[in-house]
Amino acid sequence: MINNKPVLRPETLTVGYGYDPNDHMRAAKPPIYLTSTFTYPDAETALRAHDAYAAGNVAAENGGFVYARLDHPNLVMLQDRLAVLDHAAACAVFNSGMSALATVMLTCLRPGDALLHTTPIYGGTHALMNTLLLPVQDIQPFPLPPAATESDLIATATAAMKHGPVGIILAETPANPTCSITDMAGLVRLADTIELRQGRRPLVVVDNTFLGPLLQNPLEHGADLTMTSLTKYAGGHSDVLAGSVSGSFCLVEKLRKTRTLLGTHLDAHGCWMLLRSLETLSVRTERAQKNAEAIARFLATHQAVEAVTWPGLLPQDSPTRRVFEQQCSGAGSTFSFSVKGGREEAFLVLNALKIPRLAVSLGGTETLVCHPATTTHHAVPRERLYETGISEGTVRISVGIEHQDDLIADFKQALSRI
Ligand SMILES: *Cc1c(COP(=O)(O)O)cnc(C)c1O
Repeated sequence: MINNKPVLRPETLTVGYGYDPNDHMRAAKPPIYLTSTFTYPDAETALRAHDAYAAGNVAAENGGFVYARLDHPNLVMLQDRLAVLDHAAACAVFNSGMSALATVMLTCLRPGDALLHTTPIYGGTHALMNTLLLPVQDIQPFPLPPAATESDLIATATAAMKHGPVGIILAETPANPTCSITDMAGLVRLADTIELRQGRRPLVVVDNTFLGPLLQNPLEHGADLTMTSLTKYAGGHSDVLAGSVSGSFCLVEKLRKTRTLLGTHLDAHGCWMLLRSLETLSVRTERAQKNAEAIARFLATHQAVEAVTWPGLLPQDSPTRRVFEQQCSGAGSTFSFSVKGGREEAFLVLNALKIPRLAVSLGGTETLVCHPATTTHHAVPRERLYETGISEGTVRISVGIEHQDDLIADFKQALSRI
């Protein structure tokens, strides 16, 4: 499906799209609109603005602005820029990736629904499904095995439909932290099959956090919604939390309505930080990816390392490689590797590294490392964790933009401790 593919290239769009100085006192760069409310010129305009809002068309009156929880100028600039990068008709921005995902779930699922999701899945998403949606709304998550075959998909969907209608198929691809890749076209075909059987069509939602819109456009592969934790690569400096969801105007408008009820919009300053960070996204991505390749290649040949998951190293003739090449225009710079041994050996390496900081999160200018089993994926039951390719020896690395030789030398000395 070719959605709204822009003519200009992303490197151009990230710098200035969505901001016109003519609309803002000719300021060359976006001013920050620190205001919670917007004045009306007269009572009649106020009435028309509220009539328009009730009819679902807030942009029609009063310059589109009423109250900052509904929409505000910096939010619009950021949403316009992200929508064009996602090849989408519209985008909604939230104050974290989790509030973006939670808003999708609360808007698009009904009590008693079933939800299919790929594995492994981000620990926060796992907790959202199992500690909120399941007990409060009886929405039952059904995990799909990594590298699920067509018959795995059908079998899981059949089991799910016994619980209730499948409302969402959620794919995290590449998955955090194993870089496991899911064929989005396969999930769209599954949505077709489920629709035939239950009448209602499930939405295909992709968590695109690992690559982001510069390296992967899920809407081009038939997804209904693409979600990104902007906290990671878009923010890029580990200093702001935000999330986005892009898709059709109609779906995104529903999400914005829920966002207004919950108050999960991103504030003006956060939007401004992201507009600024997006300007360097393409150069940061390019540099981090080059570093990631060098480090992945170094790790893959090290005798203390068992496996490296950087997708650029997928074997040339494998089916996963074909899906990777179809869906992704780059392999990104966050991946995992497992050291020989287990938790003790992984901790030895983590504690010996001097340049990478030991922290959760990813996508910043600085290299970060963590031990997924005991941090990001703490909430996931051990059995599920091990089945989906995360072991006690797994270390996740988010490669930054430092000099690759310094990073490699540091990994070399740290691995020598094993
Ligand atoms: C970080 C992350 C999230 C959650 O985003 P926040 O901005 O931290 O709320 C969701 N999915 C993935 C894959 C992530 O890495």
